Amino acid sequence: MDSQTLMQQAQNHICRTYNRYNLAIARGSGCYLWDQEGRQYLDFVAGIAVCNLGHCPTEIAQVMYAQAQQLVHVSNLYYTEPQVKLAEALTSSCFADKVFFGNSGAEANEAAIKLARKYSRMGYGPGRYGIITMKNSFHGRTLATLSATGQQKIQEGFEPLVDGFRYVEFDNLDAVSEAIDKTVCAVLVEPIQGEGGVRVPHQAYLEGLRELCTRHDLLLIYDEIQVGMGRTGKLFSHQHEGVTPDIMTLAKALANGMPIGAMLTTDRVAEAFSPGSHASTFGGTPLVTAVGLEVFRQISSASFLEEVQKVGEYFQQRLMALMEKYAFIREVRGRGLILGIELDFPGGEVVAQCQERGVLINCTAEKVLRFLPPLIVTSAEVDRLIDTLEHLFREKGE
Ligand SMILES: *Cc1c(COP(=O)(O)O)cnc(C)c1O
Repeated sequence: MDSQTLMQQAQNHICRTYNRYNLAIARGSGCYLWDQEGRQYLDFVAGIAVCNLGHCPTEIAQVMYAQAQQLVHVSNLYYTEPQVKLAEALTSSCFADKVFFGNSGAEANEAAIKLARKYSRMGYGPGRYGIITMKNSFHGRTLATLSATGQQKIQEGFEPLVDGFRYVEFDNLDAVSEAIDKTVCAVLVEPIQGEGGVRVPHQAYLEGLRELCTRHDLLLIYDEIQVGMGRTGKLFSHQHEGVTPDIMTLAKALANGMPIGAMLTTDRVAEAFSPGSHASTFGGTPLVTAVGLEVFRQISSASFLEEVQKVGEYFQQRLMALMEKYAFIREVRGRGLILGIELDFPGGEVVAQCQERGVLINCTAEKVLRFLPPLIVTSAEVDRLIDTLEHLFREKGE
């Protein structure tokens, strides 16, 4: 089917919940995508930080095929080896002891919210269910997770919201401190805000949150759905600071594009869930977790993560050099291979112009060009993106 027909049929048959670009993608390999007509694009979106190992890597396809021939799904009424192995791998690489598997980021956050409420209720009784989250955060689109999300535009029209969320300024410890009272049970935060515009908090922020949470017996929850799985050059973003949470959520890159979400926590907190507390039909199927295990094996290797840091630093330097040349670039932000530049004008047009030149990037928080390439991106591919931006910026004037 040609792109025009396909896009027309999408208009007719698919709910219009997305503002899509004018592009129908047929095929992918590594850092490249091809449209219906066979035109090639260099991909600096990676499904929004999902395809961290690139598109259709051979080893992943092989694991997928082998597992699909052995066992795709059984109910969570039974045990399966890939699920246990992935849980073991994840917990052995961070603070956590236990995992709950779901199918998406929102579901991972739902599990975290439910667990925080239940844990608090067991210790303190009813009434202590408030969760502090951050302005401009993003935690998902289900009712509880859009209620947790500190952005009015995502909540509008879906009221009444799930009760108990209060929003404070990101990267401001005093604001968190002031919001704590006897109805609060947890603080939920992205270690780096992704959708909020690639915002990296100051060095002592997570440590300050940890102190506040420990002092008031609140659970500290990290949403690492976008910044986990090697994106920042460590397996998990908070490992840069070395400050551990009580709960962490993962999704996006965890199985390189197969739908999966995970909520990780300590034994102490996991005690609050008992059989019947929470469940998912598809959560942690053998197919998806077998793929997740292979993704984990590749991303958690020290040499892989070092390379992410190296290419990320090179990329950031090149963006800084652009900023020095063009006054309309306000700031370069990010860590590893989640990078953004804030412009002093809306970024939508630059995204469209890059696409015309065969490079896919994304814009968030209106003025922030966000770069989320597959983690296998090379410095030569970074150069190609920078050259494309430079060409467009030169036309715009210094
Ligand atoms: C993408 C994202 C989510 C939601 O994940 P879905 O799989 O779309 O439900 C939640 N939190 C963060 C930080 C995200 O980037």
